[in-house]
Amino acid sequence: MGSSFTIMRVRGIPIGVHWSWLIIFGIFVWSLTKVLYPAAYPGLDGATYLGMGIATALLFFGSVLLHELSHALLSEREGIHIEGISLWLLGGVARLRGQPGRPSTEARIAGVGPLVSVILSLLFGGLALLANRLGWPEPVRGVSSYLAQVNLILAGFNLVPALPLDGGRVLRAWLWDRQRSYYPGRPGPRSEPARRSASCSSRSVSSGS
Ligand SMILES: [Zn+2]
Repeated sequence: MGSSFTIMRVRGIPIGVHWSWLIIFGIFVWSLTKVLYPAAYPGLDGATYLGMGIATALLFFGSVLLHELSHALLSEREGIHIEGISLWLLGGVARLRGQPGRPSTEARIAGVGPLVSVILSLLFGGLALLANRLGWPEPVRGVSSYLAQVNLILAGFNLVPALPLDGGRVLRAWLWDRQRSYYPGRPGPRSEPARRSASCSSRSVSSGS
């Protein structure tokens, strides 16, 4: 994985983090702690803003991980081996070894990531509403409300119909289904990935924000 280091394994899938993640994590926490949260929720003390910043960054990192894991676990279920997942704070890549044999499989593997991000957005949004209604501490409402928004942005960004984003892969699957060819403009079943050589080409499902 180059300059990545493995932080954990989930069902045998290595989860790697690039070293630059540490810098991005620091900048992200700093901007939340010093800029965003003091502006949105004035009057709290510095330690509270720092706690909110770290909690937000870790939970967002976990959200990106769940997005990528959904691609990876569904791929494995479809018989496509996963080399690993590489993460950075604002996105990630699940590296698939092999290609889906059918358009519907491609669409499902690509679509599940944004679906997970939308579900996470709804869960955090629900938590923010609950915190508001029950009068929970402001940091809980602030963090969950922010996470609802960034997960929705993550889903929306990934649904942009451009490769290598998830939306681009769903569009490719749709074109593949319509034209009976994996490569638009090159008709014919011979070009479908399932019929190409069995050598495992590596490909990825990526996301970012
Ligand atoms: Zn994705």
